[in-house]
Amino acid sequence: MRIILLGPPGAGKGTQGRHLAERYGLPVIATGDIFREQIAKGTPLGLQAKESVDRGEYVPDDVTTKMVLARLEEPDAREGFILDGFPRTVPQAQALERALAAAGRPLSAVLNFKIPDELAVKRLMARIVCPNCRRSYNKEFKPPRVAGICDVCGHALESRSDDDEATIRRRLEIYHRETKPLVLYFWERGLLRDIDAEAPEEVVADRTIEAIADLTEDYG
Ligand code: ADP
Repeated sequence: MRIILLGPPGAGKGTQGRHLAERYGLPVIATGDIFREQIAKGTPLGLQAKESVDRGEYVPDDVTTKMVLARLEEPDAREGFILDGFPRTVPQAQALERALAAAGRPLSAVLNFKIPDELAVKRLMARIVCPNCRRSYNKEFKPPRVAGICDVCGHALESRSDDDEATIRRRLEIYHRETKPLVLYFWERGLLRDIDAEAPEEVVADRTIEAIADLTEDYG
């Protein structure tokens, strides 16, 4: 199964990606997580990405595409993968499509998580994340059991540096301009389903599984 999670920041792609990874036994490849990890380690890739990530802008297509296509060649992704945060532009989608076609590994499903911008802003401003296991929580909607501590791994939670209001609005603006066209792109290829992502996490998870079953005719 080769799955793409599409949708604006704050739509819940990371959370749903985790559910799908457990259900299907596939790796989640989240470009934002990879960039943040590389930035924290100060690698050459991290240095290339840092300025864009800090500003809420996209890292250049060539840098991002090269990184993801290399990641897809790793053994754990041979049987399938869940892409969270890639592709985000039409050139990225075209490069991915070419690479997968050349390898005889076509896409299975593209899930388009939909939420209104104002809800995205609200969710992200109250978001806290675990830098260790990458789970995310929300001070208002989904607090951890102990304030400031990850339920699962016990690490201290923190806010992401790009989750301030101005940067969130910039990310949304860029999403509408650069990434929204991918909805039509994948719809025309018969690969896309919309998911109303305003509902509670478990409801969205059920809708996601139904949409995948519908696209792949795999009802197991
Ligand atoms: P969110 O979906 O909440 O905006 P992510 O964690 O997916 O955040 O990504 C964080 C940042 O990483 C983005 O704002 C951008 O700078 C960079 N990034 C992630 N994926 C891509 C991509 N496919 N192309 C370019 N930049 C990307």
